[in-house]
Amino acid sequence: MRYVSTRGKAPVLGFEDTMLTGLARDGGLYVPETVPVLSSADIAALAGLPYEEVAVRVMWPFVSEAFSEADFAAMVKRAYAGFGHDARAPLVQLGPNHHLLELFHGPTLAFKDFAMQLIGQMFEHTLSRRGERVTIVGATSGDTGSAAIEAFRGLDAVDVFILYPHGRVSDVQRRQMTTPSEANVHAMALTGHFDDCQARVKDMFNDFAFRDRVGLAGVNSINFARVLAQVVYYFTAATALGAPHREVSFTVPTGNFGDIFAGHIAKRMGLPIRQLVVATNQNDILHRCLTTGDYRTGTVEPSISPSMDIQVSSNFERALHLAYDGDGSAIAQLMEELKSGGFSVSQGALQSLREIYASGRVSEEETSKTIADTLSRTGELLCPHSAVGVKVAEAHLGSVPMVTLATAHPAKFPDAVEAATGIRPALPPRMADLFDRDERIARVDNDLSAIEALIDERRVA
Ligand SMILES: *Cc1c(COP(=O)(O)O)cnc(C)c1O
Repeated sequence: MRYVSTRGKAPVLGFEDTMLTGLARDGGLYVPETVPVLSSADIAALAGLPYEEVAVRVMWPFVSEAFSEADFAAMVKRAYAGFGHDARAPLVQLGPNHHLLELFHGPTLAFKDFAMQLIGQMFEHTLSRRGERVTIVGATSGDTGSAAIEAFRGLDAVDVFILYPHGRVSDVQRRQMTTPSEANVHAMALTGHFDDCQARVKDMFNDFAFRDRVGLAGVNSINFARVLAQVVYYFTAATALGAPHREVSFTVPTGNFGDIFAGHIAKRMGLPIRQLVVATNQNDILHRCLTTGDYRTGTVEPSISPSMDIQVSSNFERALHLAYDGDGSAIAQLMEELKSGGFSVSQGALQSLREIYASGRVSEEETSKTIADTLSRTGELLCPHSAVGVKVAEAHLGSVPMVTLATAHPAKFPDAVEAATGIRPALPPRMADLFDRDERIARVDNDLSAIEALIDERRVA
């Protein structure tokens, strides 16, 4: 399997280099040159298998040139061993034809663990075989950073540095990043916003001398290996509900478009997905774009579903690339226009996006009300992100079973959940001592050379 950049001007890579590189050198995102298709019989055979078994079968065509099947199966097994639920991604029924896919049973209580835990195993495997080390640098608004630190803590071949905006992540998110004691993981509290963190990470990748000296690698959601790991639960959910003999739709609380784009890949692989519904909070650039064809950035309005507070939705570039039939120069042109505020999607591309994606937007009040209503009608306590999904899904229910992705555990966002319901959700017993552990934080200014100096001083190799 070969991977190409959405902008068509970066080297074509195999799976391992795609994974280690993250962002392509032309600024684009790597995508598989062709998407492998599973037969109806292959898909039918997945029903009822353990999650790990489905994971190996679904991902194998994408990684088969990089790993032996036994090695890959062992990595998958280790990745999900720390999850708090045997099903890994259990389905719960919310109402007639509406199901919730609980993706929050991993070690940091958000769906990011599905990809990050596996990517940790794959990085370690590839780097130790090659005798290389890398420095992973990432920006987070909370969930990605905690998942990355948890996945890479104690591994030999990597140092991990996570920049988060000081004072702007929840206590649970911060403690998940600052309490691991392993010497190779570092949480850095930057004076500024999430956008500043993301901008400094981009600057480090563009500082080619620094990038090459420390062996910079990225694990943010534009890494194709992360998207790939998220394809798996679309298969487990859909086959549990009757696929390939029956269609299924999904509603996905969306920010950077990584999670929902994994559904698009699943559909291309042959899974009968009727609709993928984008659910956004008040930061609704995707909903506006799918409604009007105009993709235009504004300013981020902080919400109670902070992991979806974005203005630029990076992975949307991959969906555009498919909608423009793989025309890299058209995508490069759109991204150039985005630098000065936005672009209009062509009529043909918009039509092709709308054949797959629908969308909806949820206000803050509606989010709180959905948390309360869902609790009283079903007994299920939702995190605010999942509530955005449930609310949008309710407007798209029909004859096809709808699956809404529950992207985080309510205990990760206890203030919003308590405000909506009066109930303060408890952490699962396996992490009940989170607030007793010691924290380790490096404070940094929003200054590239200060950040680079700190990384140079702290990294192991
Ligand atoms: C990251 C995240 C999202 C958004 O996912 P994308 O892949 O960026 O669209 C939604 N909910 C939670 C809880 C998250 O952590």
